[in-house]
Amino acid sequence: QFVAQGSRLKEARSLLQRLWGYEDFRPLQEQVIQALLDGRESVVVLPTGGGKSLCYQVPALLKPGLAIVVSPLISLMFDQVSSLQEVGVAAAAIHSGLSNQERQQIAGQIRSGELRLLYLSPERLMTDRMLGFLEQVPLSMVAIDEAHCISDWGHDFRPEYRMLSGLKDRFPQLPIHAFTATATQEVRQDIARQLGLANPQFHVGSFDRPNLIYRVLPREDRDQQVISTIRRHPGESGVVYCLRRKDVDDVTMMLRQAGFRALPYHAGLPDEERHANQHAFLNDHVEIIVATVAFGMGIDKSDVRFVIHTGAPKSLEAYQQESGRAGRDGLDAECWLFYAQGDFALWRSLQANLPEEAQQTAQQVLAGMEGFCQSTKCRHRAIVEYFGQAGESGNCGACDICLGELTEVEDSLVVSQKILSCVVRVEQSFGADHVCKVLAGSRAKNILNRGHDQLSTFGLLKGVDLKVLRHWIEQLISQSFLERYGEYSLLRVTPAGRLVLKGVQSPRLLVANSTSFSQTGIAQVAW
Ligand code: ADP
Ligand code: ZN
Repeated sequence: QFVAQGSRLKEARSLLQRLWGYEDFRPLQEQVIQALLDGRESVVVLPTGGGKSLCYQVPALLKPGLAIVVSPLISLMFDQVSSLQEVGVAAAAIHSGLSNQERQQIAGQIRSGELRLLYLSPERLMTDRMLGFLEQVPLSMVAIDEAHCISDWGHDFRPEYRMLSGLKDRFPQLPIHAFTATATQEVRQDIARQLGLANPQFHVGSFDRPNLIYRVLPREDRDQQVISTIRRHPGESGVVYCLRRKDVDDVTMMLRQAGFRALPYHAGLPDEERHANQHAFLNDHVEIIVATVAFGMGIDKSDVRFVIHTGAPKSLEAYQQESGRAGRDGLDAECWLFYAQGDFALWRSLQANLPEEAQQTAQQVLAGMEGFCQSTKCRHRAIVEYFGQAGESGNCGACDICLGELTEVEDSLVVSQKILSCVVRVEQSFGADHVCKVLAGSRAKNILNRGHDQLSTFGLLKGVDLKVLRHWIEQLISQSFLERYGEYSLLRVTPAGRLVLKGVQSPRLLVANSTSFSQTGIAQVAW
């Protein structure tokens, strides 16, 4: 049997070379393809650009019967079907745009056994008519793309994916394989459970993308930050992600006025314009695409040299996926994230309408993103560990932290003590904004009204930019010396924070030396 296995893999490899022109499988692809050839059910987690599609396309050609591929978006299906047809593989997608005649034609190809792969949305597959039809033809397997959508533990739950839970009942013998780019340990288990997989194999690729250089900075002057980042990449392709459609329009306009070739992409644009813009970007007619998250699933442009986020995404999963569109060719690429506290508030307000449980998950996931932004840990390591893999402890040489682009504030301990004692002085009954104002010596009405200008900590960090103060508070929170509590996110000092006040423990406070250092007012502060 061992020999037989080896020879089937050999067959798979020669198919890869003959049809796709690639030399060899990537290490994890080989494992996955073996599992699929053996009919072993599996959950496959490979980061964007990892080469998931070949993992089921190749076995689909080697196994008798028709392979079903479930995919959430028509555009994704089109991309895959047309690239399969280009290499001479009989593949088709069923969707609402088909004429009756086209539908009949596909049905004919299925009955004659000519068709090798059939792409469908989950809701279309799970109709009684479709299931009834498919019961009458020999099937080889079901491959489910974007499988994390089945789990409400994930960041992108889609109720129509949940219908796939019924698949096992209808086709108890048919192997199911789930594919996703992003899934934490819990989500992986949940995918397997929801689909009712029998003793599945879990294949998890590395989440580290060593060729990506991550930088995470507080957003200050958005337009200026975006422009100076783009100037680092003359003539190169890049994506600028925005949280809202309006921001997409504004940033596009701003970039055009600054003389860059940029086009917008979001779900509010007419289909035609959206496709034309995507096409222009993929074919290098413009360098820059400014987009919401609507841009991305299935985009395969290998030479994207930079991805800029003008706001924090709602999860580290989303960030990993979106920033992962950079450098798919394996060459160096830069990922810049400019965040502000307001981004998290925006997401929280959007999540307020979710059902209780979903809201809780969404907030946990958001907190992970927030922690990532504020953290002083290597970015590569932070991402990899978030996805449950062991991170390297050394210097990655490819993130702002490891590159030393954030400088540790001289006398972090004293500065931290000032901040923590200010929290104590306002009786741990105020939020970060208020504490910043007291430290900065603001004469704002709400400070004076409460007599907080009389506190011994008033103006202790006068001259330091409010944004920098705010960033330090977030850093103290991320290092667990401060914590937020209650509905109004008030600040209080943790037991570890008490040790800082006693001088027993010392936090690390960082400040970016690129843009904001001059604004720290550090020179003027005498301590
Ligand atoms: P994913 O769906 O995981 O994001 P894709 O399946 O779109 O990734 O593959 C990403 C890119 O890598 C594609 O351009 C694909 O053709 C290429 N690729 C996949 N497998 C291999 C391989 N074994 N050798 C070379 N290139 C590959
Ligand atoms: Zn690093």
